[in-house]
Amino acid sequence: MEQKIIPYGRQNITQEDIDVVIAALKSDYLTQGPKIIEFEKAFATYVGSKFAVAVSNGTAALHLCALALDVKVGDKVITTPITFAASANCVRYCGGEVVFSDIDPETYLLDINKVKELLEASPKGTYKGIIPVDFAGRAANLEAFRKLADQHDLWIIEDACHAPGGFFEDASGEKQNCGNSNFADLAIFSFHPVKHIACGEGGMITTNDEILYKKLLALRTHGITKNETDYTNSAYFANGNVEETETYPAWYMEMQTLGFNYRLTDFQAALGTSQLQRADEGIVRRREIAEIYNNAFVRKSFIKSQSGVVDGHAYHLYILEVKDRLGLYNFLRENNIFAQIHYIPCHLMPYYKQFGWVTGDMPIAEEYYRNCISLPMYPTLSVSEQQFVIDKIIEFYGQ
Ligand SMILES: *Cc1c(COP(=O)(O)O)cnc(C)c1O
Repeated sequence: MEQKIIPYGRQNITQEDIDVVIAALKSDYLTQGPKIIEFEKAFATYVGSKFAVAVSNGTAALHLCALALDVKVGDKVITTPITFAASANCVRYCGGEVVFSDIDPETYLLDINKVKELLEASPKGTYKGIIPVDFAGRAANLEAFRKLADQHDLWIIEDACHAPGGFFEDASGEKQNCGNSNFADLAIFSFHPVKHIACGEGGMITTNDEILYKKLLALRTHGITKNETDYTNSAYFANGNVEETETYPAWYMEMQTLGFNYRLTDFQAALGTSQLQRADEGIVRRREIAEIYNNAFVRKSFIKSQSGVVDGHAYHLYILEVKDRLGLYNFLRENNIFAQIHYIPCHLMPYYKQFGWVTGDMPIAEEYYRNCISLPMYPTLSVSEQQFVIDKIIEFYGQ
């Protein structure tokens, strides 16, 4: 029998998910309906933020954040090279300059000490913001980033695409959920099928800042507002300069800024809400899988893994650093195990190289990239499938 492919990540769609999508399709609203608000409320509750704005994907979420924070041509923003390109690209959409800063070799996250050095080497005001990424599902210490950001008047966008359900412990020992926006100005999530919660495509922005929240709502829908108290034109004008009245006609709306159509549909939101109900279960399972991998590879000389087993890890990815990575990758593929590499350092993408980034700029990220491999990690990975993956890796190294 042909062995089926074991991918590095995959969605889990249940009959319940299918039922709620069908119900949404049969309802009055395919988009801009009640399912969006339901999903936003449930998601804000899940991460512990005041506000949430559902958008069409994680990249749109990042773009809207950059717009809401007023990123302008030439603005310098710091991020990690070990992330999906979208974390950096949002700065470029607004004409800003991406400044990559190297990772910590143990956590694989943006190294705050390097960011500090970077900030202190330039006059205040040189940089506008930082985009830390909860890479692989491990929460960045945003309390520490906030302190640093405040000293240099910077905003923070937390790219939490890998980490719904993740958390870190702050200095007083309190749990701080990824995306709760207690320290970041804005946080973003993706609902691409390889992420924890699948909507097909989808994204979410969370914040505790009401002004930013209102900006995001407008930017999501063409910069148009239907909120009478925000109108700048008079009711007389709104009536076509014919009716002397204080009352705006019901059809009236104003486009006040240049926005986009970055909306999520109602049937996607229904799927998201349904998926969210199983998010905690998914995290429990991901942590079980991680522990089994940890135990299988502990003290193996061919392996180094993201160190410091932390409680709050959301395990979007389970990453190893290995010897002969190419050999292992190809051997696993021959056995229908489709491991993946996260990520090719962003600063070495041809697009970013044109701005002068070269090999050697981020030595730790580049060394990490030489060795890293992401193993299958998703809640429906079966015990026997995981054992097969482990056996094949051990077989490859002959140990
Ligand atoms: C997936 C991802 C994104 C982009 O999300 P999309 O929904 O695919 O646009 C951004 N940043 C990180 C770290 C991601 O993993």
